[in-house]
Parts: sequence; structure tokens; C-alpha cells
Amino acid sequence: MILRQLCKFKSPSRRAGLVYIKSCTRQQSRPSSDLRSADVERIRNFGILAHIDAGKTTTTERMLFYSGTIKQMGEVHHGNTVTDFMDQERNRGITITSAAVTFDWNDYRFNLIDTPGHIDFTMEVEQTLQVLDGAVVVLDGSAGVEAQTCTVWNQADKHKLPRIVYINKMDRADADFSMSVESLESRLGANPIALQIPMKSNGEKGISTVIDLVTMQLLEWDRKKSKSINVSQIKGELLEMALEERIRLVELVADVDEILAEDVIQRESLSNVVPAELKAAIRRATIKKLCVPVLCGSSYHNVGVQPLMDAIGLYLPSPFERPKDYLVNLFKDSFCARAFKVRHDSHKGAVTFMRVFSGNFQKGQKLFNVRLQKAEQSGQLLVAYADEYEEVQDVGCGNIAAVTGLKDTFAGDLVTGNLSSANSAKAKLAKLKNIDSNEAEHILASSGSSMEPVFFCSIEPPSQSAQKALDKALLELQREDNSLKVIFNQETGQTILGGMGELHIEIIKERIVSEYKIDVDLGPMQIAYKEILQDAIKDSHQFTQKIGSSQSNVSLVMSLEPQDEYIQFPLEMDKSGEDAAKLSSLPPRIINALRKGTAAGFRSGPLLNCPVVGVKPVLHSFSSTYGTTDTAIIAAMTQCVQKLLKTGGTRLLEPVMQMELIADAEVLSAIISDLTRRRGNVVSIVERGKQKVLIAQTPLSELLGYSTELRTMTSGRASFSMEIHELRPMSQVETNTAIKRVTGFDPSF
Ligand code: GDP
Repeated sequence: MILRQLCKFKSPSRRAGLVYIKSCTRQQSRPSSDLRSADVERIRNFGILAHIDAGKTTTTERMLFYSGTIKQMGEVHHGNTVTDFMDQERNRGITITSAAVTFDWNDYRFNLIDTPGHIDFTMEVEQTLQVLDGAVVVLDGSAGVEAQTCTVWNQADKHKLPRIVYINKMDRADADFSMSVESLESRLGANPIALQIPMKSNGEKGISTVIDLVTMQLLEWDRKKSKSINVSQIKGELLEMALEERIRLVELVADVDEILAEDVIQRESLSNVVPAELKAAIRRATIKKLCVPVLCGSSYHNVGVQPLMDAIGLYLPSPFERPKDYLVNLFKDSFCARAFKVRHDSHKGAVTFMRVFSGNFQKGQKLFNVRLQKAEQSGQLLVAYADEYEEVQDVGCGNIAAVTGLKDTFAGDLVTGNLSSANSAKAKLAKLKNIDSNEAEHILASSGSSMEPVFFCSIEPPSQSAQKALDKALLELQREDNSLKVIFNQETGQTILGGMGELHIEIIKERIVSEYKIDVDLGPMQIAYKEILQDAIKDSHQFTQKIGSSQSNVSLVMSLEPQDEYIQFPLEMDKSGEDAAKLSSLPPRIINALRKGTAAGFRSGPLLNCPVVGVKPVLHSFSSTYGTTDTAIIAAMTQCVQKLLKTGGTRLLEPVMQMELIADAEVLSAIISDLTRRRGNVVSIVERGKQKVLIAQTPLSELLGYSTELRTMTSGRASFSMEIHELRPMSQVETNTAIKRVTGFDPSF
């Protein structure tokens, strides 16, 4: 079946051996109309994932150029690439928000989502992965697998995404193809299968020739003429080496594909497998995630990108071939889509990007938002070409659409055609999972990914009159990015931003200044600590509230117990105590109010008003007088939890980061002694070429402004990346230091 599909899609020009030159010279600025009514089997929804600076943006720019979507290539260092089109991205040369780009390559429709590589934007990567069918992972050929590669790889694993690896920067003198392939195995436990061999040419810097082991052809690029490739037969000594490597490739593929293995056994030969057979086997194994095809190139020098594009069509799955999504099963043919990105366009307003999982999205149709339980009228239906859009009449299942006119839909939301289709999916899910309908609704409504901020800081408008405009700007930015948290502190009257890193918050500020023209100020950056309970505690609490003529009285007995898992525990009812029978017959309205009160009580701990985690709350007794309001029950419970937390005492829990530093050997000892001063732990040091790779674990609070300090300390001879490793309880002394740092007061006096 798959072989037949491949034959169907095979471009006639491919047989002539001129595929790249021919397809590249096709200057087509928009996808052809026949693909607009897209044959789902030809759609490839994929993302490009990488450690920062590996070359995602440069590679994307080449893809757009070769597909004819753009006429000229931009460069990251010139700040004129298509996918990094926001000012902040162009100024910093990094990718911040995923941009969806649609283009055609040969007979395929590519929907490419360019994802940010910086740890601060991991949430965006998560949201993107949910709507993709496959991914291209770009490695820097001089570094192999890096810290952030591991993060995105694990995320892709979580979403069961088949992958292709592209080893970029093979022009660099220190590039090492074998080391990079091996690092996929040793660091990620992947099964990499190299489909190409890069050739270092004499005299010229880096590579411009690649041996294609599948087709057994020599591909040569003329770097000056960025589109042309000379395809020729492999000859002489090179042929001998290539034949050996091909046999090795066939062996590796046969190990993970039974059909090829059987063919090889029947023929009793590994050497006469034709390219079409091999491609089909690689496709089957890649889609089953039994192997990862590896290609190479030098995107900056225009080498290797067209075969990568071919490989995306050949080896990554179509929407039909992704592991059956539960949404498709629930909705069958009726419409459902997941929003994965909201971008604010100065002319069109909010543009919401969606992946259509089932049914058809018709222009101007009403959408029912499952999280909000309300309908919204959609406006224009668009296909996105980075910062340009084209209006279309409908977008079919498996495809990516951009929609205007939605005011309340956030990234991560699920939308359906109407309430009844949402309800019938909810009922099916409840039956399938044997859960109640509220829980089913919660599963459907949530995007499944949420991240806690690790940094906080206050944000101030230039004057009171600008507060309203700031609130609106923050609301819009939150719609685009749900890892941005905005909290209003009632006590201080301040607006607090919570983000995934210093860079994340700084960029939010820059966007408010440049896009919304509000000259905001940020307060000092603070770590998002959490609080944990020191000692188990049980106590009672009485609450009385008189409003007008009505009086509310609540009486509670509750206990709090510290746990080892640092999560929020739901309120439990004592099932064996004196009041067990009374508690088990409480009406849902009261239980709901009690739960809300408990959650509110844990929202701010007694030490630094940080969220309290790792505490099991148990209610032993509850009574209230007639006419007691829900608000009074919530308030009573909140007070009770806070009173118990104060008596039991809390300690701080701090985020500890896993750091990967790459440094010249001469600066290593300075880095290590500096890290020790910062309460850091060195986990390992390994050599990578002439450099050292140091893995360390350091509390985040010690790393504020670290990138600038590292640059100064090492004169730019070291770089680092980091990700959250764990939340770690602080000692009493450390807790006191942190409190002094935040409040200015030393609690030990
Ligand atoms: P991203 O952060 O992964 O999007 O990486 P970029 O595409 O922004 O590239 C990071 C830097 O590496 C830029 O200065 C690029 O010009 C450079 N770069 C990208 N591809 C190559 C390549 O093939 N060879 C070399 N030597 N540099 C490259």
C-alpha cells in the first residue's frame, strides 16, 4: 500500500535524475490550486526542532526559497528572514514565536511550523508539537546533540512524533558527522540511520558534495548558484566505499523493517535493493519510530536542503499516518480543530492558527470553544505564508488554517462546529475512559500542556492612565503565549508578570514598548519559589461573617500533611472519623466551595506568598448555619488552610537548573570555581573536540544575569544553555537568605 502511494506521488522529473534542478527552478509563489483542496496523503505537517543556533531559521529560509515562496534568501545576521519576522526576533537573531508557513515541494503540501529553540519558549514548542505529524531535528555538526536538543527530543517522544535528523554546519572545520550521528545514539537512545555521507572537498572550505546512499548518486552543489545541483554517478574508489556503506544502510534498515528483511533473505543479497524499495522500508520504519533517517548539509552555504525537503515528503507521515489521535476517534467526520497559536496582525487583528483534526473548516463558520463553552463567529479563513496570508473557502481535515475574528480563543483551545458535537464527544470520552462528564469536558478543553513560570517581576505603566492599555496588551500577549502569567496583587496594587526566563519577560516588555507603544518599567526579577509544609498539623477554625441582616457561620476541623511529591493535592474528606457520614453526604455546591477555598489557601504561603505544594489537605468536620453563603465557605476554608500553614511552618522550594556549558579548556577552572560560589554542583566534564562540555546543576536564583557574567569572565570563550532540573527544598539558612534577598529583612533577627 505504502509502495503504491510512493509511486503515485513520484514526480516524473525524479526519474530523469534532475529532480532538484527542475523543481528548484520552478518559481512558484503560491501553492498550486490542486493542492489547495489538499489530498491529505500529500500533506506534511512538520516542525523544525533544535538547540538554539543550530540553523533552523537559516534552513527554513532555504526551504522557502527552493519552494519558490520567496525570491530572495534572507540571513539571520542581516535580520531579514521570513519566519523570524517580529522585530525582537530580527534584532536578536533568534526565533521567538512559532510561525506557520505553507508551501509546496514537488507534489507535497508542507505546513512548516518554525519553533523557538530557547528554553524560555519551551511552552510554544509543546503547543506546536501537539498539532504536528512529524519533525525535523537540526543539529549543529560541530556540536552534535546539545542540551536543548535533548529537551525537544523528549518532547517529541512525548507526542510520539516520527523524526528526521539534519546535521547542519558541515562546512565548519570542526564539523564531525560520525560524532553527531553517534551522539544521537548515546545521548538520546535513538536509532540513527545515515542516508548520506558528506564529502570534504579539497581546497574548498567545508562540504559541497554529498553521497546519497539511497539512490547511490553524487550530489554536488555550486555554492555560488544557490539552486543548482549536479547529480552524477559515483565512480572509482568512492564507489567502492559507497557500496560498502549502502550495504550497511540496507542491513540497518532491514533490522527494523520486516518486509525489507524478508526480501533480502529471499534474494540472499544486500546489494541489489532498488532505491524505491529502500525508501519504502525507511518510510515504514520512520513512521513506526523504529529509526531516524539522518541527512546532512550546510544550509548557510546552500548545500543539502533540497534532499532534506525530499526526505520530509518521503519519510515523514501524512496526517492519516500519525498515531490515531483520540480527537479523530471522538469526532469522526464532524469538525474539530485545536488552536496552537494566536498572532496579532496590525491589519487583521487576532489571527488564530489551528490544526483541523476532523471534518472541514468552512469560511465564516461558527466555532464552539470547548473551554469557554461558548460559540464564536470566525472571520476570514486563511493560509499563512509567514507574514502574508491568502484567503481560502475551506480547509480540510489534517491541514493547518489561520482564522481571523476570534476574540476569546487562546492557543491550546479545542473548537468544534457546535455545542451538540462537543457534547457527544464528551459523552463518548466519558464512556471510553469511565470518567464523569465534568472530567471528560476538562480533558477535551485543556491543551494538555501547562507550565509553571520560574521568574516573576512587577510591570508598571508610565502613568495610571496607561493601565487600561497595558491590561489590554497583556491580555493579547497571553492569548498568544499561555506560558506568560499575569497576576494582579491586591495588596500592593501591582501587576505581576510570570515567565519562563529572564529573556521571556524582557521580550514581553520590548513587545509592549514597540508594538503597543506603552513605555513600561519592569521591577527586579524574582525567582518563582514554592513553599512546602514543615510539620503535619491538625486544628479547628471558626468563621463568622455578617452582611446586612444575613449571617454566615462556618466551623471546620482540618489537617495538613507534608508529602514527597511537589504537586497540588486535592481536598480529601475524612472517611473514618466521627463526621465521616456527614461529610460524605455534603451537597456538591458545598464541596465545590470547600475545594475552591482550599486552593485559594494554598495560593500564597506564609513565608513569601509563594504557592504551597506537596501538602495533603484532609477535612475532618464541617458545619454551617442556615443561610451561610458559598463565598463565606470559601473564605472560611482559605483562612483555615492559611492558619494551619502558619502553625505547621513552611520552607522554600527553589528551581534548580541543569546547565550545559561549552568552554575552552583554559577558562574551565574559572567557570567551575564561579559555579561553586553559586551553590552549583558539577555533574560531569567531557571533551568535545578542543572544547570541554561541563554539566552542572545550579539553583536558578544564583543565575540571574549569568549569560553576561559568563561572557565577561571568559571573554566570550564559553556558552551555556539550561533547563529546569528539579524543585529542591532549601535549608533554613538558604531560606533566610532568600527571604532577605526578596524582602530586604533578615528573618533570623
Ligand atoms: P536557529 O537559532 O537554530 O534558528 O539558527 P540560525 O538559523 O539563526 O543560525 C544561527 C547562526 O548559525 C547564524 O549566524 C547562521 O548564519 C549560522 N549558520 C546557519 N547555518 C549554518 C551553516 O550551515 N554553516 C555555518 N557555518 N553557519 C551557519
